[in-house]
Amino acid sequence: MEYRYLGNSGLKISEITYGNWLTHGSQVENDVATQCVHAALDAGISTFDTADVYANTVAESVLGEALRGQRRESLEIFTKVYFPTGPGGKNDTGLSRKHIMESVNASLQRLQTDYVDLYQAHRYDTATPLEETMLAFADVVRQGKALYIGVSEWTADQLRAGVEMSRELGFQLVSNQPQYSMLWRVIEDEVVPTAQELGVSQIVWSPMAQGVLSGKYEPGAQPPAGSRAADENGGADMIKRFMNDDVLKRVQKLRPVAEETGLSMAQLAIAWVLQNENVATALVGASRPEQVGENVKAAGVRLDKSTMKAIDKALGKVVERDAALTARTTPRSRLA
Ligand code: NDP
Repeated sequence: MEYRYLGNSGLKISEITYGNWLTHGSQVENDVATQCVHAALDAGISTFDTADVYANTVAESVLGEALRGQRRESLEIFTKVYFPTGPGGKNDTGLSRKHIMESVNASLQRLQTDYVDLYQAHRYDTATPLEETMLAFADVVRQGKALYIGVSEWTADQLRAGVEMSRELGFQLVSNQPQYSMLWRVIEDEVVPTAQELGVSQIVWSPMAQGVLSGKYEPGAQPPAGSRAADENGGADMIKRFMNDDVLKRVQKLRPVAEETGLSMAQLAIAWVLQNENVATALVGASRPEQVGENVKAAGVRLDKSTMKAIDKALGKVVERDAALTARTTPRSRLA
């Protein structure tokens, strides 16, 4: 495993982070979840990402249990706040001071830890003044419940305003968590240059486009049993954006490119996001421990210019690059 600094902080994290969205507490049984976490630890992954909303809080509990007994100082544990949890009461959502303060305590309890390394705003909250959110985050840090603060899917302007305020309040906003893969490059034109200027890293989600870039979904064929596209607990719905023949045919064209480099298609996809120097880590999911073993081999891989060009040629027009799509991930009103 290779390790990178998170933003301009002194915190080192593994180039590959294990994430448990849609798997723990949902698609996979708890014993398999634990096996995946242990496979990650065995492979040198020290960084784990979850959120209070995953499986409506159960994913945090499953991760906390799977990590029980590990040396806390050797781990970096990340979680998030924003989306509605619990019974979905009017204040069980968003980035108000009340919801942040209550949520962090509940997350720590489920994760069986006194602090998280990174506490992230899962989205931007247009209903709460940014000052209120940032002051609450400052207090969470001063109380020692989180060491660093991050955000997810914020636009360049939102990032700039957040970082400026974090500096005034004396805490470190070090990361943004956007979707990023060979197929989804919308952060490249605006978010990445701004973040670089601000000393903020990207920690990127769905680097394999939820498994699509592994090449296992054949155009015109039924998804393999047990895969996310066949998961009626929510997975099939989440992945459907990429499940069309235009995309799947183009993805098959990556097979010879991967073979040329000696990597599997999954490894090529993860290595690709790590070529961007603003990316501190690829957040990778797994439904089976063997996948973790395969995926970690993408750490430390350097792809040459001809491989990067061959990837662009193979994917052609199905690559999404529209910078305006980041703003569209900000919910128009607070979800509740
Ligand atoms: P990936 O693109 O890594 O997809 C992971 C899925 O792909 C696995 O669950 C598995 O699904 C399949 N897969 C993994 N390895 C292989 C392999 N070697 N060969 C074939 N299939 C494979 O990322 P995710 O979409 O899971 O997201 C990763 C993390 O990002 C999340 O856990 C979460 O931490 C974060 N995230 C953050 C969001 C945000 O808003 N901030 C939103 C979404 C995710 P299967 O076997 O079932 O097909």
